[in-house]
Amino acid sequence: MPESAATRRPRALVALVAVLVAAFGICMVTGWGGATVSSAVSGAGTVAMTVAAGIACLVRARGCRGRDRTVWAVLAAGCFVYTFGESAWASIETIHGREVPFPGLPDAGYLGMVPLAALALLLVPTPRQPAPQRLRTVVDAAMIASSLLLISWLLVLDPMLDEGAAGLTRAVSLGYPLSGVVLVTVVLHTLAVLRRDNPHAGALTVVGVGMVVLGVSDSAYAYISVHHSYTSGGLLDTGWFVAFALVLLAARHPAKAVAVVDGPAEPRAFALLVPYVPILLAVICSVTFSAVTGHTDAFHATCRAVLILLVVSRQLLTLLENRHLTRGLEARVAERTAELQARELRFRALVQQSSESVAIADADSTLRYQSDSVERVFGWPARMLLGHRLVEITGRRAGPRIAAAIDAVLAGPERVTVLEVPLRHQDGQVRLAEMTITNLLDDPAVGGLVLNTRDVHDAKELQERLMHEAYHDGLTGLPSRALFRERLVEAVEGTGTDDVAILFLDLDGFKEVNDSLGHAAGDLLLCQVAERLQAAVREGDTVARFGGDEFGVIVESLAARADAEAVAGRIAAALEAPFRVGERELPVAASIGLACAADAEDVDQLQRNADLAMYRAKSGGGNGLAAYDPAMLSGLVRRLELEADLRTALAREELVLHYQPTVDLRTGEITGFEALVRWHHPTRGMISPLDFIGAAEATGLIVPLGRWVLREACRQAVAWGAGSTRPLKMAVNVSVRQFEHGDLAATVAEVVAETGMPVGQLCLEMTESVLLTDTEENLAQLQRLKALGVTLAMDDFGTGYSSLAYLRRFPMDTLKIDRSFVDRLGGDREDEALVRTIVRLGQSLGMTTVAEGIEDSEQLAVLQELRCDYAQGFYLSRPLPADEAGRVLVEGFAAKMH
Ligand code: C2E
Ligand code: CA
Ligand code: CA
Repeated sequence: MPESAATRRPRALVALVAVLVAAFGICMVTGWGGATVSSAVSGAGTVAMTVAAGIACLVRARGCRGRDRTVWAVLAAGCFVYTFGESAWASIETIHGREVPFPGLPDAGYLGMVPLAALALLLVPTPRQPAPQRLRTVVDAAMIASSLLLISWLLVLDPMLDEGAAGLTRAVSLGYPLSGVVLVTVVLHTLAVLRRDNPHAGALTVVGVGMVVLGVSDSAYAYISVHHSYTSGGLLDTGWFVAFALVLLAARHPAKAVAVVDGPAEPRAFALLVPYVPILLAVICSVTFSAVTGHTDAFHATCRAVLILLVVSRQLLTLLENRHLTRGLEARVAERTAELQARELRFRALVQQSSESVAIADADSTLRYQSDSVERVFGWPARMLLGHRLVEITGRRAGPRIAAAIDAVLAGPERVTVLEVPLRHQDGQVRLAEMTITNLLDDPAVGGLVLNTRDVHDAKELQERLMHEAYHDGLTGLPSRALFRERLVEAVEGTGTDDVAILFLDLDGFKEVNDSLGHAAGDLLLCQVAERLQAAVREGDTVARFGGDEFGVIVESLAARADAEAVAGRIAAALEAPFRVGERELPVAASIGLACAADAEDVDQLQRNADLAMYRAKSGGGNGLAAYDPAMLSGLVRRLELEADLRTALAREELVLHYQPTVDLRTGEITGFEALVRWHHPTRGMISPLDFIGAAEATGLIVPLGRWVLREACRQAVAWGAGSTRPLKMAVNVSVRQFEHGDLAATVAEVVAETGMPVGQLCLEMTESVLLTDTEENLAQLQRLKALGVTLAMDDFGTGYSSLAYLRRFPMDTLKIDRSFVDRLGGDREDEALVRTIVRLGQSLGMTTVAEGIEDSEQLAVLQELRCDYAQGFYLSRPLPADEAGRVLVEGFAAKMH
């Protein structure tokens, strides 16, 4: 692993410090340059080193937080205090060349450093400890302190006291060895309790070593001062230099990123042994001293007694601590056992209460464990099953399948197999069960095959029912649109697109049957249609009902298009015979759209194509077949564009009304006009209402459009009426949608009031569809219109689902005979008879009759002869813009009448 800059830097520093220490040491030992020089070198070197160490500690403090920061800051303060002492010494001795007074300023610096260093170490965060352990660490500290004190007493303190110095001098000289004792005690104590996960542990250990070196040096200084005499610049000075070099290194020692371990830390073996080292040394010193001098002073004896006392109490404390630890351990074990027991009880309850049967079996399917829940699920008590081989007791159908499943899971450990098998309930019913077999033979906790079995009978049945419902039409039992689509996907993917064609069917006039005869009759009709469709297709073709009166057929064959055409032909033929619904015979035809998979990119497009073709068949008058061709799509696009444009047409005033005169067949006079809307499309030119009224109805735009037409026609009628003596009738077409959305009677009342139109001169034309849909509601609306005084005309009479009964019920005033009947006049007598009947019918109901679409004089003559009341048609006049219509009104066209 490449070394990082951070690890390389301290190593370089170690090397540098080592070189400096070595140079310093050599200088001191060899006394190079004489006493003055080496003393100067010693002074300057130590000052430099303490300053460096102090700065390093400050830098480190800045990078720390909390207690750690304080530790390093106090340590830095210690270094600087020492700097002060050393500088004072150097300046007095080297610069001023005087002898350093004792005690003097330097001593304040040297000794002042000790409490700061000790404080720093005592501030190091220590782990939380239980009471006995805490007490033991205190005793340990006392043991260390008393051992060191004894050693110091024997080597330094006692001789110093003998010297006879008095007062401050004695106190200061004793201060050095005592500082040593304090420093070493604090260091050993701190290292003993230091947390292993303290990120500064390494650095603090190095500081500790430095402080030990300092303490030993101080004591040595005191010893030398007592027994010999101290001169600076000797080997001893290396001790202080090294001590601060170690502090410098420690401050630069990188902090370790260690995960903080919570909870009490176990005591380290090192920590337990630490106090015995000074004791051992103290014992050796004490014994040697007694042997050499042959006497023991009181302090010596007291110290020894205290030490013995401390050792004994420490042993006692260790014992207590062990007891405490053991108790904690026992409690933890008991807790864990209780937890395991609770867990097992919980598990057992879960298994017993489960809606599954849980069992453990041997490899040969012999049941070794069986949960009691099996009785709830399958009725059998667990004890009846235990010891039996599952493959034998599950019956002829399930047994072999379970055996095969077991063979499969035995292939490897932890293999799982799920299978559905019929199992006999104790009450005799055979229920479908889902069994999961897991091979846990190798799992020491189980050592068997685990079988989880649940009853899925009802769920399965429900699922099947739901599936059937989703895939079948409730009324006819035919496949639904969803199933149709699925089969279509299968067919297209299975046989290739060239071999599939579909037919979409829509019954013509079914809505009218439903509306007039009721839903029950409609349903009956649909069922019969479904039967005939099924009979008309080939075996294997899918017939589906999409809803309403829409059906679909999938034709799969090598000549799909031709075969689909043939099927469509057969369907048309099958529908030819009228259907019997109750008393009635109803003719039903279908508009059929055909599309081939070859023309579509996917199934959705294929269905869209068939839909388009079906609409084409429908708009071609119904009862026919249309095959999809791409032009239809562009037709659709045009229609959608038209719809979008229509929304803005009203606002942009692109709509205009043309007026077609109505003529009295007896007098030849113009009695009124029919208002017919046209659309001046900005790009497509004049558009016929046939091309946009449908779209307006589909989008609901017919409501505002119809209101506009009504207002405009009334306005125009009032304008013409002002200059004319005759009361002019204005006929306005209304769509059945205007009855459904909004209140037509209210709209009419509003417009009439607004324009000043005499309401008796307004005629509303509507087709039979108004009478056929939502009958009661429409009847009420018609009556409200009638009450206003409006004239009502039945438009296109004869083309719809005309029921004479309706005509009697509804308050109609006028019958407009459809153009298709007028068309046939002039040749065949039979067709004349039809129109004659309609005219008579109108007369018998008290209705006026209007003939539409008169294109020649012959037709006009026949209608006059049949005593039809009014006439309209290109022969007389095309629908005209308002100004031209106004002219015709003045001129009249009596010339065209006979
Ligand atoms: P409609 O109510 O049956 O109107 C008569 C249609 O027959 C008009 O077509 C008229 O131009 C046409 N016509 C009149 N005389 C002759 C003739 O001698 N020969 C032929 N071949 N045709 C003749 P137009 O104006 O294209 O209107 C078509 C249909 O659009 C109307 O049929 C009506 O149902 C609907 N429509 C027109 N204007 C409106 C309207 O303002 N509101 C509603 N809801 N529908 C309208
Ligand atoms: Ca009309
Ligand atoms: Ca008409």
